[in-house]
Amino acid sequence: MSRVSAAHPILADLAAELPDTRIVTAADETEAYRRDETEFLPAGRPLAAAFPTSTAEVAAIVRHCAAQRVPVVTRGGGSGLSGGANAVDGCVVLVMTGLDRIIEIDAANLLAVTQAGVITADLERAVEAQGLLYPPDPASHELSCIGGNIAENAGGLRCVKYGVTRDWVLGLEVVLADGEVIRTGGRNVKDVMGYDLTRLLVGSEGTLGIITEATLKLRPLPAPKTTLLAFFPTVGHAGDAVSRITAAGVIPVTLEMLDRPIIDAVEQAVHLGLDPEAGALLMIESDAGGKEAERELDLAAAACSAAGATKLDRATDAAEAEAMREARRRAHWSLEQLGQARTEDVSVPRSRVAELIAALEGISARHHLRIGVFGHAGDGNFHPAYLTARDDPQAKERTDAVRAEVYEAVLALGGTISGEHGTGLTKKQFLERQFGPRAVAAMRAIKDALDPQGILNPGKILPD
Ligand SMILES: Cc1cc2nc3c(=O)[nH]c(=O)nc-3n(C[C@H](O)[C@H](O)[C@H](O)COP(=O)(O)OP(=O)(O)OC[C@H]3O[C@@H](n4cnc5c(N)ncnc54)[C@H](O)[C@@H]3O)c2cc1C
Repeated sequence: MSRVSAAHPILADLAAELPDTRIVTAADETEAYRRDETEFLPAGRPLAAAFPTSTAEVAAIVRHCAAQRVPVVTRGGGSGLSGGANAVDGCVVLVMTGLDRIIEIDAANLLAVTQAGVITADLERAVEAQGLLYPPDPASHELSCIGGNIAENAGGLRCVKYGVTRDWVLGLEVVLADGEVIRTGGRNVKDVMGYDLTRLLVGSEGTLGIITEATLKLRPLPAPKTTLLAFFPTVGHAGDAVSRITAAGVIPVTLEMLDRPIIDAVEQAVHLGLDPEAGALLMIESDAGGKEAERELDLAAAACSAAGATKLDRATDAAEAEAMREARRRAHWSLEQLGQARTEDVSVPRSRVAELIAALEGISARHHLRIGVFGHAGDGNFHPAYLTARDDPQAKERTDAVRAEVYEAVLALGGTISGEHGTGLTKKQFLERQFGPRAVAAMRAIKDALDPQGILNPGKILPD
């Protein structure tokens, strides 16, 4: 099945060892695998895209790449927003979607074992059919893969209550930079043997090893969600409500914010009849069930009213709530209707959400650049979207100036420059600003130890 020329010696070697593995080299065939969801970041020309279906095939490909010093860029669903899966010149793109088997769902031990290329929503549906929940729920769950979620330590719409991907990974099978295969962690809920390589690999963005299999924690399926929509005159009021909800001790399963430009974009895409006057809305959900769910949403409603909410709507049926959730998931794509949009990802401690919003408003006004705001407000994790006209020749320069100021504001609030989308290409030059040179040197030492030739996703995370 290989369709490779012998132009580079590795191609002939791969074809000889893996005659049944799909490997493509023509530019029109590799084009679809050159970049993730970011349009504005550089992407190189791959030598080939390879489509392994087993750990053994991944290991063989990496072994050959290591022997010939060919870079390896691993790719899951390609839904990343930091350029992490963008090709570098002369690399082999390892497309992991063929490792798509859910190996085991073990209800007695509340765990699942899955190959890395399984689509996140497929795993969610499979475990739900057995009365179980895999909580990490990125808005991209129909596109992204478990391996990509682990490599980015993805967050999502249920993190307020259940945490991020890292909190649900028990163990990994990983192909190292020389093609050797190791296992980290295992099936035990408690396990403190040796260094915690599992946690090191979570969020490593394909730079330390290639995840081929994961053992994931599950939990019993909670009650169906009940949903409250709260509308506010301004994002500032909504930000205040987020801090008040947290201070009231309510931990909703979902606490998302959309501001006016984003509500407009979502309304244009999916007509939900959202309040046309509101400056911002919060979507607050409880999965506690019964009276506890009512109590949570009552407390949240009281906090919203105290913060100046103009309207509170409880979704009357499950379909209405799901439509709202779907609208939120589409926010990223809906933005395209507003012109050129560059989605940001920053996070601050929850008590400082209102200050972050005030800072964004100040920066937007000073730079005369529209910033739409949406995100996982309950985690303090926001996606300001820098909005420019499609024909603005200065769009990149203006956006870059705004970004730098946003990051300074976020760091001054004790926040982080990326909450969930990763460092990738887009934020590596800010790594040292956040952590200082010594910490970055420690990260570099880890990279050198695990990938001495620097072939795994070169140029990502660590500054040049
Ligand atoms: C509409 C939309 C909504 C989104 N919503 C969220 C959200 O709610 N929360 C969130 O956190 N993110 C979100 N994202 C970003 C993105 O979906 C996540 O980062 C996701 O985890 C990427 O998974 P992927 O399989 O698409 O990975 P890719 O984009 O293919 O790759 C991402 C990174 O992981 C590496 N990688 C991929 N697979 C492996 C593997 N098997 N082993 C080692 N490294 C690997 C790649 O090299 C790259 O560095 C969203 C993106 C879009 C487009």
